[in-house]
Amino acid sequence: MHSVESVGQQFEGFQKMASSDGQLGVCPLCETDIHARDVLIEYREDNETGIWADCPHCSEVVHPE
Ligand SMILES: [Zn+2]
Repeated sequence: MHSVESVGQQFEGFQKMASSDGQLGVCPLCETDIHARDVLIEYREDNETGIWADCPHCSEVVHPE
């Protein structure tokens, strides 16, 4: 039961990432929202787009989740 709830939450998170409100994910270190304005680099690798962003809270370069 617990694992099913976990998958559902991840799916909701993915849909939130795909929305156009400018929020791309959260910092893996401090869970602060990462927005489009924080993005440093956008890259393509194996037909997937990835980004590195400057976290506004902990000032680390992170890969938003
Ligand atoms: Zn952070």
